Amino acid sequence: MRLDQMYQEVILDHYRHPHGKGLVEPFDSQVHHVNPTCGDEITLRVRLTGEPGEETVESVSFDSQGCSISQASASVLHDQVQGVSLTTAMSTLDEFSSLMRSATEDVTLDEDLLGDAIAFEGVSQYPARIKCALLAWMAFKDAAIQATSGTEQAGVV
Ligand code: ZN
Repeated sequence: MRLDQMYQEVILDHYRHPHGKGLVEPFDSQVHHVNPTCGDEITLRVRLTGEPGEETVESVSFDSQGCSISQASASVLHDQVQGVSLTTAMSTLDEFSSLMRSATEDVTLDEDLLGDAIAFEGVSQYPARIKCALLAWMAFKDAAIQATSGTEQAGVV
């Protein structure tokens, strides 16, 4: 099986069996983001625990509708950031942003942080789909910043 076919399978699997779908309580912040160019929408909740500056992402849940790329990306986001430190989660978000620029820029990627998210590498060749892939990650960033607002922003990009 070729690599891009394998990546396609990973994306389809997350689309068919999304992880983290279904909003859960308790949560610290909730955001709603839309990608008007494709019609994708996501409502995402974040729950953080721990001292300011040393928070852990206790839960990430979402409700979404839209294309397979946007839905699968939200599922992968959940897998990669739930249960890790907020600092690691933000680093993973940076890696995913770099991945989306990989078709046009020379980027160095940390595949350990990316996990299944590496499957979205091919999306970087399609500018119109990059927003689909980034939707959940930008929603997470927004929600995490809101959840930490008023506290120390150390480690938060
Ligand atoms: Zn889309």
